[in-house]
Amino acid sequence: MRTESDCVFCGISAGDLPSTTVARSERAIAFMDINPVTPGHTLVAPLSHATDLFDVTAEDLVACVHLAQQIAERARDRLGADGVNLLNCSGVAANQTVFHFHVHVIPRFEDQPSKDRIGLPWESVPGDLDEIERIGALLS
Ligand code: AMP
Ligand code: ZN
Repeated sequence: MRTESDCVFCGISAGDLPSTTVARSERAIAFMDINPVTPGHTLVAPLSHATDLFDVTAEDLVACVHLAQQIAERARDRLGADGVNLLNCSGVAANQTVFHFHVHVIPRFEDQPSKDRIGLPWESVPGDLDEIERIGALLS
């Protein structure tokens, strides 16, 4: 198991730092975010340290997504969430602030501004088709 001595989420996984842990599996842990953007905002992280999406192993990634799905179901069934956003920030450019891979599970509440005032960080605007094809070719 990889650990980093100065990593907050390694500390939480090991039980050395406080957290409100809500679920664990063999490879992953789910705990409440201390700055929730909506009620029930949870973080799911591998027990073994990985910096980000580029660093996490396929097995740990699968374990995190699987646990995130369970948390999403609980948010729907127990908190009355109407939907859920999964979010991962990998890299400073993507606003990552804790460099131990994690997935945010963000319960969403329709027409309940007291619980949910967030939107999406982009506007949906039709793109240039040639540019989309050119970039698509780079990713193919
Ligand atoms: P990110 O910007 O994607 O790296 O997200 C890091 C998240 O970790 C933020 O939403 C913080 O509120 C959250 N966070 C930081 N420290 C803790 C902690 N000790 N316990 C729970 N959540 C934390
Ligand atoms: Zn760590």
